[in-house]
Amino acid sequence: MKNQDKIKKKAYQLLIKQKCSSFPIRSLQMAADLHYHLETYTEAEKQYGDGGVTRRWMYHCFGNAFVVNICGIYNIFYNEYAGLFNVNWTIMHEIAHIRLGHVKWDGQFIGESYVDKFKYSEKEQAAEYFTSIALCPDTVLDAMHRIDNVEHTALICYVPRDKAKQKVDYFADTAETRMMFSSKNSRSENRLLSQYSDFINTYGKRVEIAEEIYIDFSRLSKVGA
Ligand SMILES: [Zn+2]
Repeated sequence: MKNQDKIKKKAYQLLIKQKCSSFPIRSLQMAADLHYHLETYTEAEKQYGDGGVTRRWMYHCFGNAFVVNICGIYNIFYNEYAGLFNVNWTIMHEIAHIRLGHVKWDGQFIGESYVDKFKYSEKEQAAEYFTSIALCPDTVLDAMHRIDNVEHTALICYVPRDKAKQKVDYFADTAETRMMFSSKNSRSENRLLSQYSDFINTYGKRVEIAEEIYIDFSRLSKVGA
């Protein structure tokens, strides 16, 4: 993928700008904070259903979400029944298209289903990569030492299991490189880490406590047996 580092930096800059300091990052809230206009497929069908814009049609054409630029206002339409984690992912995917300048022109639109239709489309790959960084920021997860478990990643970050799996695989692939460069964090990585420092510390303590309880419990159950 082209410009991988640039995309990563843009995702980090968004988290810094929005003062994110804990997980999960809630895409719907972020879109609202960024003054993007949000509309569910149900609302859209009520308004434009007579013109053929039904829930079924939108899903068929765009998948679970799409974004339209109308006179400089970004309108994100989304399937509110896609499930909590899917909605979280798909809204961030549309935010990614906006932040990466994919819907600059009036009337321009782009939808989620393009991921499947044009698997190798550069814009879709870029939006997916941005989303994976924005919802599961490498540098923060790395500091939490929680990057090797798919279930944990899915639950901590509110992302679908298959996306969490991709992230864990990606971490495994890049482990060596990250170790080599871990002392050379970029400026945006360092800023993000300091934004998350309280969260990372509290999380670390909670994990320690949970592990102690688990050890005690396993001892108890052995005595019982
Ligand atoms: Zn897309």
